[in-house]
Amino acid sequence: MNRTPAVAVVGAGPQALTFLGRLAAVTPDVTAESVVLDPSGRWLARWEDLFHRLEITHLRSPAVHHPDPDVDAITRRRDLCTHDLVGGSSLRPSQWAFMATCRDLVTRLGDAGTVVPRSVRACRPLGGDLGVELDLDDGTSLRAGRVVLATNAAHPVTLPGAEPHAGQADLRDAGPDERIVVVGGGLTAVQLVDQAVARGASVTLVTRRPLVARSYDVDPGWMGPKRLAAFERSNDPADRIRAAARARGGGTVPPAALGRLRELAAGGRVRLVEGVAALGVVPVGHHVLVRLADGCSLAADRAVTAMGSVARVEFDPLLEPLARAGVLRTVRGLPILDDALRVPGTRLHVMGRLATERLGPAAGNLAGARRGAARIAAVLLGIDPLDADPGISTGPDPWPARRPGSI
Ligand SMILES: Cc1cc2nc3c(=O)[nH]c(=O)nc-3n(C[C@H](O)[C@H](O)[C@H](O)COP(=O)(O)OP(=O)(O)OC[C@H]3O[C@@H](n4cnc5c(N)ncnc54)[C@H](O)[C@@H]3O)c2cc1C
Repeated sequence: MNRTPAVAVVGAGPQALTFLGRLAAVTPDVTAESVVLDPSGRWLARWEDLFHRLEITHLRSPAVHHPDPDVDAITRRRDLCTHDLVGGSSLRPSQWAFMATCRDLVTRLGDAGTVVPRSVRACRPLGGDLGVELDLDDGTSLRAGRVVLATNAAHPVTLPGAEPHAGQADLRDAGPDERIVVVGGGLTAVQLVDQAVARGASVTLVTRRPLVARSYDVDPGWMGPKRLAAFERSNDPADRIRAAARARGGGTVPPAALGRLRELAAGGRVRLVEGVAALGVVPVGHHVLVRLADGCSLAADRAVTAMGSVARVEFDPLLEPLARAGVLRTVRGLPILDDALRVPGTRLHVMGRLATERLGPAAGNLAGARRGAARIAAVLLGIDPLDADPGISTGPDPWPARRPGSI
């Protein structure tokens, strides 16, 4: 591994791949001098595991959202079957088509796409142009000219008394007639219900508020100027964070999946307890009781939660020490970054949900990854990050003409 790379990318999920793809498209020389670190040693390990565990066949987002810098990289594939693109006006890709497109991008990256199987334990911005020092889990350190954190550090929300892994459950092992309570009002909760019902379990879904139908987890207006223009105009970080939180709201379910769930409920295959918060789980022998806010309890063999997760600097082991030392300012738990998603005054960039104050409610999604990647790549070329952001820029394409070796 190059111990003094120009760029070190921490994490090898979709956000990191989107960044490296964009970097390779605009500056192959710098890309060749970069390193990617992730304990899994491979791309998209967490994403693949999640989709496999929950048996998710299709993405929720449209086919133009993926890590390849060419937005049509999925739709122009020649090896797609009819079920690889589904939906009406806005097609959604299968997990197979998404992964195949990511694999092709990694292949095009060549050596730069190698993931070094190392976890980063600490990072220290050295100030000015000196770069950032990273401590690795093998006791060594490396100094990079620039570091991009794409670790998706977040804290899963679950219930008091629930098993430690209740929030990362899958129900592939559900048994016939097993009584299962699923807590949560988003698509993941519905996917867990589907898994359990398919295996003949007796399922109850508990949701804090009545189930809400919505095609995407964030209104598409937030992918472009329609909503982002006003967001950009606000100079108050607390206002921006509040607007982003309001836009995401709680969990929502695409109309088709919600329709299927209601049919299961009407047919007696699922019991819906809507609009009642679950308060906690109490083990009783080999069973559990799920306590509800209306004073009732549900007896079950197993309780699983799909209540989402919270991204805050305090849950990020790499950024929390910087906030504690006063190097990084936070508002409502989120970091205040500059337009290039940098910790101000450093060469440390942050992608994903922690960039919400800059990018808005879709920062952690594939669409947010595309915007964040463009902003960070732009500073390497001396381009204004805002001119490069496809979500808000209305000017001409700011990137220089494609150079030999770019992907
Ligand atoms: C069930 C589900 C479905 C989703 N579907 C969609 C969808 O259809 N469309 C969409 O836009 N979004 C979707 N999302 C949201 C989001 O796009 C995904 O969560 C996505 O995986 C986030 O990408 P990421 O790169 O930030 O994080 P991850 O995929 O979690 O990758 C982070 C990587 O960082 C590594 N890492 C962590 N700490 C360190 C460290 N200290 N050192 C080195 N490496 C580290 C981890 O090992 C991991 O590989 C979905 C989310 C979920 C939960």
